[in-house]
Amino acid sequence: MENNETTPPKPQEAPRPAAAPHAYSAGPRRPSGPGGRGRFAPRRKVCRLCAEKIKLVDYKQAQIIKTFCTDTGKMLSRRITGACAKHQRQIMRAVKINRNLSLMPYN
Ligand SMILES: [Zn+2]
Repeated sequence: MENNETTPPKPQEAPRPAAAPHAYSAGPRRPSGPGGRGRFAPRRKVCRLCAEKIKLVDYKQAQIIKTFCTDTGKMLSRRITGACAKHQRQIMRAVKINRNLSLMPYN
């Protein structure tokens, strides 16, 4: 390590803190501006019907069912409403019954 003639002199590297907790993140990763949650907000969705302890969704409970549908009568997906599978099935059945009874529009 004595002959420095063959190897070119290396540019001085910037001293990086060795004891950084996350060395891979060069800077502030999270764009948490004022009121901003970043681009993707992984938030735990909880089923609204489970939270309200509604065991069975009846087709007569139109105001509940309508919150899971658009104004045009289309059902919203679970990804949007956050309903669990059990309740989503019940909503689906209720919507279909309501459409048959013409309580809800088909399209
Ligand atoms: Zn549920």
